[in-house]
Amino acid sequence: MQFAVLTIFPDMVTAFCGHGIIRRAIEQNKISIDCIDIRAFAKGRHRVTDDRPYGGGCGMVMKPEPLAAAIRAARRRAPNARTVLLSPQGRPFSQRLALELAAGEGLNLVCGRYEGVDDRICGRFIDYEISIGDYVLTGGELAAMVVIDAVARLIPGVLGGADSADKDSFSEDLLEHGHFTRPPEFEGEPVPAVLLSGNHEEIRRWRLEAALVRTVLKRPDLLAGRDCTAEEIAILKRWQRTVGKIIDAQSVRGAGPSPGGQ
Ligand code: SAM
Repeated sequence: MQFAVLTIFPDMVTAFCGHGIIRRAIEQNKISIDCIDIRAFAKGRHRVTDDRPYGGGCGMVMKPEPLAAAIRAARRRAPNARTVLLSPQGRPFSQRLALELAAGEGLNLVCGRYEGVDDRICGRFIDYEISIGDYVLTGGELAAMVVIDAVARLIPGVLGGADSADKDSFSEDLLEHGHFTRPPEFEGEPVPAVLLSGNHEEIRRWRLEAALVRTVLKRPDLLAGRDCTAEEIAILKRWQRTVGKIIDAQSVRGAGPSPGGQ
């Protein structure tokens, strides 16, 4: 898959390409990441890429001409790639959107700076506007790297044989179970015995239950959107009964007046 990052700070992205799984994926030609310096498409001796906003106000705006030229150059390199503007006003980035993007042929990721890009760029050139969260960064580069990292690891072969993305948190509206490694006991806390048993079926069941309980406790909203299997519903009902018994025992003993006084 071809990624291109359109930025006035290409060095930020170059460093990202040199480490870990992303570096290996580039070396193995599973992905490519081009840094396109928007400044190279700016005219004049000073190659200015920003200007004052029409209507007044503080801050600067990224000029449309260098951006348009940089996007056109990226499209010539990868005609089937989708063009993405990183923006706090965009569609919230998620594992589901990462999967959708990973099914395509490439992404040209446009990084804004200052107050953002001239609005005329959005309608003409942008297929997706993506936000990585409800907060404002100083530039789109970190967001572009987040998107590349999440999308690249979904491309077949990028994680390598031993790792797999399909059991990761969010991939099936479920958080992943906890992980443990050696030593078998750490500061008095042992690894769950079932994980040392060698019984694959019991380990599978323990992991499923741990994932379900984690999701109920941390992200019940995810479970609400999941089509649970009969096995999962049986596990959840068992937990429901256990919690119900605890609550019933409390009301028998008398929990005292409620905080509201009723
Ligand atoms: N004035 C803009 C606004 O209020 O919507 C914010 C501009 S921000 C300071 C500069 C650039 O950082 C944006 O053009 C965008 O490329 C990037 N950026 C900031 N926050 C982001 C976020 N949450 N997700 C993705 N990109 C973001």
